[in-house]
Amino acid sequence: MAVRGQKERSALRSAKRFVAEELDERLEAEPVVLDEVDPSEGTQPPEDWDTHAHQDDEDVWEGVETSAAPGKSSFEAAPAKGRSINGFSVGPAKRIGVKTYRVPGTNVSLSVRAIIAPLLIGFAKEFHQKVEKLRKGWCWGHANRNIRGSKRPSFHAAGIAIDLNAPKHPLGRANTFSVAQRKTINALCKKYGLRWGGNYRRRKDDMHFEVILPRAKAVALAKRIQKGGAR
Ligand SMILES: [Zn+2]
Repeated sequence: MAVRGQKERSALRSAKRFVAEELDERLEAEPVVLDEVDPSEGTQPPEDWDTHAHQDDEDVWEGVETSAAPGKSSFEAAPAKGRSINGFSVGPAKRIGVKTYRVPGTNVSLSVRAIIAPLLIGFAKEFHQKVEKLRKGWCWGHANRNIRGSKRPSFHAAGIAIDLNAPKHPLGRANTFSVAQRKTINALCKKYGLRWGGNYRRRKDDMHFEVILPRAKAVALAKRIQKGGAR
């Protein structure tokens, strides 16, 4: 337990650094149109999609403090419980306000937490335009699961993370994007207040993008981005 506490403190420090140093406040926000669709339009990730990235002995930390019952180190053991380190509860879609939206200009729909949806949907839209075309069935968001082999639920359980074109950017493989693509991804992450799994220090997770701002700041940024204009 002590070890996990230490990991969480170090992750919290790194999240604070991210907010202080990396979020580029000067970037102008474009309005994001939210096109809500039926939840069945969203894709559920495969059962084993996060198996390798998130072992308890990894330095990769997904941001959720509390856990399922001790000893039940499983994904299947219990629904995810707790709260992400930036203050978002985890749980079933309806309870935590997850809705499904079509990414503008694509046939891809993502299930994400409504209150921060402009951050993830706006990012996905620009990713499709500027980095790589999104492919239906390869992208997903909310999944109310604990991480297999770990006692922690992931940011996906809070509806604040998405995986894009997962089969092309598998877990644990670094540099699945070109230098130019990486540069664009990093700029877009700053604009939308996201952390990219491709920047995890050890095990890379190129497909993964998560809202890392503290809850109040993330919600405020989402509102500004939905309206559009300079922030
Ligand atoms: Zn992910």
